[in-house]
Amino acid sequence: MKSIYDLNMNDLNEYLLENNFKSFHSKQIFKWLYEKRISSFDQMSDISKTMIEKFKEDFTIEDLKIVDKQVSKDGTEKYLFALSDGSLIETVLMIFDYGYSACVTSQVGCNMGCKFCASGLLKKQRDLTSGEIVLQVLMIQKRLDEINERLGNIVVMGTGEPFDNYDNVMKALSIINDPYGLAIGARHISISTCGLVPGINRFALEQVQYNLAISLHAPNDELRNQLMPINNAYPLDELFKALKNYASSNNRRLTFEYLLIQDLNDQEIHAKQIKELLKDLNAYINLIPYNKVSELDYESSNEENSLRFYDLLKKNGVAVTLRQKKGDDIDAACGQLRANKLK
Ligand code: SAH
Repeated sequence: MKSIYDLNMNDLNEYLLENNFKSFHSKQIFKWLYEKRISSFDQMSDISKTMIEKFKEDFTIEDLKIVDKQVSKDGTEKYLFALSDGSLIETVLMIFDYGYSACVTSQVGCNMGCKFCASGLLKKQRDLTSGEIVLQVLMIQKRLDEINERLGNIVVMGTGEPFDNYDNVMKALSIINDPYGLAIGARHISISTCGLVPGINRFALEQVQYNLAISLHAPNDELRNQLMPINNAYPLDELFKALKNYASSNNRRLTFEYLLIQDLNDQEIHAKQIKELLKDLNAYINLIPYNKVSELDYESSNEENSLRFYDLLKKNGVAVTLRQKKGDDIDAACGQLRANKLK
């Protein structure tokens, strides 16, 4: 059975009309689901019994099951949720100076096979439904309700490649962004891709203002082919052609993510190559300390290399930030909590 959280406002309007109800009820229903955050249809006190009975026939209204929760010293909370078929996924709640942010998962496992990533150790089992993506955010908001706080930011940077589950991710974000839904502003929502060019081209045509982040991690094809198999299908010149096309139809600033891996991608030559790649784009690059994955041989760049690399980029006129490490005392690297549980 479908979850009620799979329906965006358009779907709900259509459903109501098809079933001979008035479509204006959709706003009321969204308020119950996403503002009052009820847990059973019976709580919709201004909705008719007939409609409620029809909902019960057609939809579930179940939360995700919390299987495990880890809390880091810096306040990061990592959740392991079970879906209705028993699949396990991770969602992370982080606290930044600009507010609370949730990192959500888009697929059970991932097929992109990036060599440094714990998620890639486990192949994709299936895409998440839009409802399962929405529910991760709703679960985190319900957690924040306990302390009267509001979730302000979403990053689709958990396990999975969002552009490999394009429609469900976009539908979920339309619910998360809807003023009657979770009402999180488009500019506070970021999607991160490893560089699926067809997805970027589709995204360029969307009428939404979500941020786009690209996992670069290597500034030349030779190294990127090694680290990220997707680069064999969409090498850097194709990727940057798509990004320039996106940038020309859209004034948003692009974010590049760049993991710092000791002696592998943190040398002077790499800084020069990054400068070349980014020179015609409105973009900045976010340097991210690599989270050690015990099964893999990669090491995070040490402080000396990280700071030198940061300075080199800065001197070259590249807009660069060095990300604060979050939750590195828990299984915070992508897919680690899940991988450890499945072991
Ligand atoms: N598939 C998408 C989104 C999920 S991965 C993408 O590739 O962007 C989210 C980010 O975490 C990516 O930048 C990914 O490369 C990075 N990542 C993967 N493993 C990591 C690790 N061990 N430490 C730090 N970041 C990691």
